[in-house]
Amino acid sequence: MKKRKFIIIGSGITGVVIARNLAEAGFKVDIYEKRNHIAGNMYDYEKDGILIHKYGPHIFHTSDEEVNEYMNKFWKLNKFQNIVEGYVNNKLVPIPCNFKSIDILFPDKAEQIKNNLKTFFPNQPNVPILELKKIDNELLKEFSDFIYKNLFLNYTTKMWNLKPDEIDESVTARIPIILSYKNTYFNDKYEGLPIDGYTKTFEKILNHENINVYINTDAINILKMEDDKIFIDDKENEVVIYTGPLDKLFKNKFDQLDYRSLHFEFETINQTKFQETAVVNYPDDPIITRITEYKNMTLQNVENKTVIGKETPGTYDEKSSKWNEPYYPLATDEARNKYNKYKDFAKKYTNLYVCGRMGLYKYINMDQAIKNALDLSKEILENENKK
Ligand SMILES: Cc1cc2nc3c(=O)[nH]c(=O)nc-3n(C[C@H](O)[C@H](O)[C@H](O)COP(=O)(O)OP(=O)(O)OC[C@H]3O[C@@H](n4cnc5c(N)ncnc54)[C@H](O)[C@@H]3O)c2cc1C
Repeated sequence: MKKRKFIIIGSGITGVVIARNLAEAGFKVDIYEKRNHIAGNMYDYEKDGILIHKYGPHIFHTSDEEVNEYMNKFWKLNKFQNIVEGYVNNKLVPIPCNFKSIDILFPDKAEQIKNNLKTFFPNQPNVPILELKKIDNELLKEFSDFIYKNLFLNYTTKMWNLKPDEIDESVTARIPIILSYKNTYFNDKYEGLPIDGYTKTFEKILNHENINVYINTDAINILKMEDDKIFIDDKENEVVIYTGPLDKLFKNKFDQLDYRSLHFEFETINQTKFQETAVVNYPDDPIITRITEYKNMTLQNVENKTVIGKETPGTYDEKSSKWNEPYYPLATDEARNKYNKYKDFAKKYTNLYVCGRMGLYKYINMDQAIKNALDLSKEILENENKK
């Protein structure tokens, strides 16, 4: 057994993938998790016979072959493909806006709008709304203004608590109008949910003789910092891989980091189906952003029962009863500058690796988190070989 020991803070996908790779390379790994369960934000559990996601709906999708191959060692994906709909002016339409949305929202002008779109953007699968707004055509202007206001602006201002003029144009530029009847939300090669669930997948990844997991343990209470080292028991031989927020690690030495949070309210309903798709957006609702019906994504066959999750955004505050999870880092310069101070400070510790969605203070999808974890595992092992 190798002498060096790895201490991993956080049992999300970043932490467990690194743990597994280091364990397979012959290192002892201890994982500390402050929650009472493993799996980070991908944690799922059964409620009334239906698998639900405690921290919001998680749909895996990737075009990365390495990520797909790695995860296939531990899970088998179901055939779910995400289709999102939303209530706009009390009409249920596909989101992002496609030709079917146009048919429903503009019954009198639909043919003309679709023809104009095809004329201005021939052979294109979609067009970003900002590009569409530049076209000198009265009907398309009216159309793009409507879509921008009703499908995007209401949702985004509520999600981020911003005024319309505070929304960054780079975000706006990306909303696509789909120039066909295609209604699947993602464009990746692989998509689905693990048939046995995320938590069961994590159990498989962690099932290795070199890995020990300690839940209900906030690492902040047991980590020590001395000189240029961070450790729990053995200053000389421990390496720490930290996947939590840096302000917490350094006890708010600079400023608290800012996040947008979400509150999920789960409800069991005694009917077989609540909505047609897994996710329905509510851009017009003053409070809720979307409702997820979990059965529609886990593809479980349960009669006369379904579980839905209503999602409400709010400002993160660890003392709040509703918005106490740091979900989305704010995308402002001010927020990023605060983070950069911590990032620079962390460099002082020579046996510390900072990673994961919170460590990086960056929204990343699961596949990106897995890819980063695979890359970092390789980097750590290369560094160990040099010692
Ligand atoms: C609402 C929402 C929906 C999402 N939907 C999707 C989706 O559909 N598809 C997709 O690909 N991605 C989705 N994501 C992104 C996905 O959740 C992340 O990519 C992934 O969970 C990142 O894993 P991680 O290990 O980096 O972080 P996390 O999953 O956050 O894990 C970090 C872990 O560290 C623990 N921790 C933190 N501090 C300490 C401490 N001091 N001591 C001990 N433990 C600590 C935390 O408790 C947590 O368990 C979504 C994210 C959100 C917020």
